[in-house]
Amino acid sequence: MRFPRSLLVLAFAASAAPATGQRVSADPRPTLTVGSAMARRGERAYGAIAVPAGVDSGTSIAVSVIHGARPGPVVALVAGAHGTEYASIVALTKVIGAIDPKTLSGSVIVAPLLNVASFEQMTVHTNPVDGKGFNANYPGDPAGTQTQRALALVAEQVVKQADVIVDLHGGDLDEDLRPYSYWARTGDPKSDKASKALALAFGLDHIIILDLDISLPTGRRNLAGYALSLGKTAFIAEAGRAGMSSPQDVGALVDGCLNVMGTLRMIDRTVAPIANPVWIVSDARVRADAPGMFTALVARGAYVTQGMKVGTLTDYLGRPTGDVKAPISGVVTFIRSVPSVWKNATLVNVGTPAAEPLPYKKP
Ligand SMILES: [Zn+2]
Repeated sequence: MRFPRSLLVLAFAASAAPATGQRVSADPRPTLTVGSAMARRGERAYGAIAVPAGVDSGTSIAVSVIHGARPGPVVALVAGAHGTEYASIVALTKVIGAIDPKTLSGSVIVAPLLNVASFEQMTVHTNPVDGKGFNANYPGDPAGTQTQRALALVAEQVVKQADVIVDLHGGDLDEDLRPYSYWARTGDPKSDKASKALALAFGLDHIIILDLDISLPTGRRNLAGYALSLGKTAFIAEAGRAGMSSPQDVGALVDGCLNVMGTLRMIDRTVAPIANPVWIVSDARVRADAPGMFTALVARGAYVTQGMKVGTLTDYLGRPTGDVKAPISGVVTFIRSVPSVWKNATLVNVGTPAAEPLPYKKP
C-alpha cells in the first residue's frame, strides 16, 4: 500500500511548522489551472483554453476557474457545444459571478461556450469550421480537425480535473423545446444513483432517461458518456428555445447549477429535489424526407396522440407537400421552430411520459 501523498505533505508541513503550536494543514490543490486561468484558494480567475491551429484554424475557449477558500468537489459547468443554444450559454456567464470563491467549498470550472465558431457564425448543431459535432467527438484528437483538437483539450483540462460534469444545452435555433434534464445511466448502481440525485436536485420537472453503453466508443462520444466512462458523475440539462434566452429559461439553468452545488454542500443553499418528476422513458422523432417549409401546429410541451397532425410541410411556393404526424402518443419535447427544412432535419420529437423510470437497459 502506497502512503497517500497528502499525508506525506501533511507530515512534512507539521515537522516544518514554527514552534508556536500553530496547526498547519496541507492542501493537495493550492491552485487550480485551466488553460490560462489560474486561481488560488478563495479566488476567481478568467482565461482561455487556446486551441492552436493545425490542419485547420485554431480557436480559443473562454473559461473561468473559481477555486473555493475550502477544499471540496470540483464541478465543471459546460455549455455551448451547440453555439446557438443561447439560454444555456448566457446562464453560465451569469453563474460565474453568482459564486463567491471566499465562501465556496470546492472548485468550479465554467466554460460557457465551447463551440465558438457555431456561436459567431450562427451555425446550428455543428462546428462550421470542420462540420463536426462538439458533443459527438470525445475524447478528441490532438492531430485532428478543430473540433477534435478542442475536445482533446477540454477532455484533459476540464473533464479530467472535475469530479462532476454538468453539460448544459438549450433548444437550438430550430427547436421549440420544453425544458428538461437527462438522467444519463450506465447500469452501474453507484453512478446511476449519483446522477439521479443531481437530476432531481437541478429542478427541471421533466427528466429524460438516457441509457448509455460506455463500454462502446459510441457511448463515450458525447460529454456525459465520456465523463461517466472516467468514473465521473455527469448529467445534462436543457432549457431555452428558438434562439431566445428568456429570464425563465436562463433562471432555471442558473438555479439548477446552484442547486447542484448546494446538494454537494459546496455552497450554503437549501435544495428541494423534485419529488414527482415526469420521467420520459422513450421517445420518437419525425425527420424530413426532403427540403421544404415547415409550420408547427402544436407547441412544445403539448400532449399529443399517435397520428395527430402536429405540423404541415409546403414547397417554396406554399403548395402543401405533406402533413407531419405524431409518431407516438406522448409529450412534445421539442418541435421545429423555423420554416427551414432540409433532408433529415428533425421536425418533431415526442417523449413517452411515465410515473417511474424503467430499469437500465443497454442500448
Ligand atoms: Zn445542445
